[in-house]
Amino acid sequence: MTAQSTDMGRVVLMICDGHRNDFVRADTCPAIFDFAARSRRFLNHRAIFPSATRASAAAIATGCWPANHGLHGNTMGLPDGAGVRVHDVGDPAFVGKLRNDFGRTLKVPTMAERLAPHGGALIASNVSPGAAYFQDPDNFGSVVHRAGSLGPGGRKLGLDEAPVVSHDEAGDLALADWFCTEVLQVRRPRLSVLWLANPDQGMHAGPLGSPIHLDAIASADRAFAQVERTVDAQRAQGEDILFLVGSDHGQETVRERVAVAARLVEAGLKDGPDSTEVVIAPQGGSGLLYVAPSAEDRIPAILGFLRAQPYIAEIFHGPEMLHIGQRPENGLHIAFSMACSSEPNEFGVPGLITVCVSDDKPGKPEGFGSHGGLGDFERHPFLIANGGGFAPGSIEHGVTRLIDIAPTVMRYLGLHRDGMDGLALPQN
Ligand SMILES: [Zn+2]
Repeated sequence: MTAQSTDMGRVVLMICDGHRNDFVRADTCPAIFDFAARSRRFLNHRAIFPSATRASAAAIATGCWPANHGLHGNTMGLPDGAGVRVHDVGDPAFVGKLRNDFGRTLKVPTMAERLAPHGGALIASNVSPGAAYFQDPDNFGSVVHRAGSLGPGGRKLGLDEAPVVSHDEAGDLALADWFCTEVLQVRRPRLSVLWLANPDQGMHAGPLGSPIHLDAIASADRAFAQVERTVDAQRAQGEDILFLVGSDHGQETVRERVAVAARLVEAGLKDGPDSTEVVIAPQGGSGLLYVAPSAEDRIPAILGFLRAQPYIAEIFHGPEMLHIGQRPENGLHIAFSMACSSEPNEFGVPGLITVCVSDDKPGKPEGFGSHGGLGDFERHPFLIANGGGFAPGSIEHGVTRLIDIAPTVMRYLGLHRDGMDGLALPQN
């Protein structure tokens, strides 16, 4: 990748994973809060369903709902013989699994693919391997991740080209430092993405509102401040930069954990714990239920069972899933969200959720943070746009979605956005 001319402008996108909109405050993250006051803040930004990182990363990268990009969630079912097997899409091998089974990865192009002829993209991510690779699964640009960094064409990048950082706050700060000094100032791709593990990681490791959560926010705020200084310095040299800062979802406090698949076994609706005719891909605050063709006659009874359970909130069957950005395919018949409420936790932070767990995915302990469902706070990330024609010091109260980010990037660069589900964000 070489330095580009500046006639198209450049885009910098920074994601602070899991950062709730209501925690973007002067006392928690002063740098981001001050920046919001000088920018356009989107107060009703919404997560996708499930409000989980990996499918969200693909939604941001493509501008499409999971129904159209094809990555159902953090875990998803795929046909396996006569049944369905659940896979962890965070596994670095899962991109290859999709390519092997279907001859493709995502069903629609990413920004990295669209921008390959226009100055390229570099994604530096410190979350799960899947969430990093699904922003550019076919290697049109560069993805920098501790599990292995890849350049255009899938070329492995050496340590001289891409750093390996730790999966913690120190790693976030090291990655942000490299992003500022090497990516933004030297390589200067058309699109530069920095995706931090925090505050999501801190929220998963303790109660929301506790010092571990607030420290994780402060760490992300320090990383943000460095990126902002670097963007400002580049602009002072005459560069036109659209700078977007946001998160992918929020989190809520785990009130209860329920192994929904085990309950189906007890109810006689699933043959056994490891059977493949009825399977659930857990998503924290929600679940995706797959049924093999041989067991489709059980669907009415499964729906009746789920509707009677106090730990289930909303249920979407078949084409109803289109209302939440999913579609029936490859055995996916039912999506459900887990019970939630706006009650506060011990630190006064509102939002309690029940989470769907399994033996493989035990979930976070009661009292800690999690997400994945339709609770008001888990599906309420933040978003701020600065430069690129966005009115400074303004607030948008209308609903915006993760899928609106990619169309916004393409509009700014003067490139077409055909095939995207999202809409470019209102500028004033
Ligand atoms: Zn996330």
